[in-house]
Amino acid sequence: MSEITGAWRRTAAGAGLLRPDGSVATTIFAEMSGLATSTGALNLGQGFPDEDGPAEVLEAARSAIAGGANQYPPGRGIPDLLQAIAEHQERFYCVTLDPEREVLVTAGATEALASTLLALIDSPEDEVVVFEPFYDSYAACVALAGARLVTVPLRWPDFQPDLDALEAVVSDRTRIILVNDPHNPTGAVFSSEVRERIVALADRHDAVIVTDEVYEHLTFGEPHVPIATIPGAAERTLTISSAGKTFRTTGWKIGWLSGPEELVTAVMTVKQYLTYVNGSPFQPAIAVGLRLPDEFFAHIARDLEHGRDMLGAGLRAAGFDVSVPRGSYFTVADAGPLGATDADEFCRELPRRAGVVGIPVTAFVTPEHRADYATLVRFAACKRVDVIEQAASRLACMAP
Ligand code: PMP
Ligand code: GLN
Repeated sequence: MSEITGAWRRTAAGAGLLRPDGSVATTIFAEMSGLATSTGALNLGQGFPDEDGPAEVLEAARSAIAGGANQYPPGRGIPDLLQAIAEHQERFYCVTLDPEREVLVTAGATEALASTLLALIDSPEDEVVVFEPFYDSYAACVALAGARLVTVPLRWPDFQPDLDALEAVVSDRTRIILVNDPHNPTGAVFSSEVRERIVALADRHDAVIVTDEVYEHLTFGEPHVPIATIPGAAERTLTISSAGKTFRTTGWKIGWLSGPEELVTAVMTVKQYLTYVNGSPFQPAIAVGLRLPDEFFAHIARDLEHGRDMLGAGLRAAGFDVSVPRGSYFTVADAGPLGATDADEFCRELPRRAGVVGIPVTAFVTPEHRADYATLVRFAACKRVDVIEQAASRLACMAP
């Protein structure tokens, strides 16, 4: 996409989404996956698994298609999936939800985020606090919703927010504190102190907490703690998740959100005019997935932890400094020790130099903060063991 005009151009410019030459970029994921395809490089860029998810879930989708689940499902989602989501929140987190009022199925977490921001933002003075670096759709959707993006930095190497910095940006103008825990791209898992402070600040300034927990089952050696379970949070928190990461079905785009009825209803009102509904045969299949035994969920985290360890060792052996992630698909590495000064440039050269694709962390930050993340690269560990092994040995022999 090179030229774009009209309202979105102004919105994109305001959100800092334009390239230096004034063009509007395609997402960094599309761009880097395109580079992997055109160069034949190993794609440790875009976060999608290269193996299928559980056979029961795939089979359930096939039989749903064969059984005729091919027309519009109900607007909120099919009752069986709503029930399965409520059961899942109860089983893992002791959170009790009314599936008919407090749960909504969406077209991926992306639509849950977009419709939440569009639904809750009232005025151009509203502020949305995000932790930077942030998942790319956050800034775009805050801009589309017409609010101000306010950032709290997460700094190398542990990427925990500074509590004073957080406190300094939350005010009565804050409409939403947008949390992503476990965090993309850094792999950080917020400490309980951070979670508690977020809840206290949201309460003090009457803000809504929107929490993106798509990597909820991908934490290493510690159970995930939804921010909604912190005392005082439930009544002001919308929790978003997705089947994509947990069941390796990123292309199915089945996501959901849950929280107080009033907030969920507001989001549903907007959501019905975005996609209306989606994924009719995939909804019953994800209900099957959410009811898989505990062992399945423990196993996916262990598998990914193994991938993370292999990737980390490979990156270290190749000369990167590595931040050890506590969750998510991703590992952030510093290419500074290899002589890099600009991660974007480094990533564009990496296919030629090593036959590997990574994503510059600068793609997840506002233009004014690029310098703070200038040499950091995100690599995805959600790939087959042989792919990670091969990437590690290619990186070890990187050409100048
Ligand atoms: N949030 C985060 C933090 C993500 O990493 C992603 C990418 N999968 C999404 C949201 C989007 O999820 P979905 O594919 O379900 O729309
Ligand atoms: N969530 C995935 C990532 O961070 C990609 C999603 C997308 O391509 N939009 O890599």
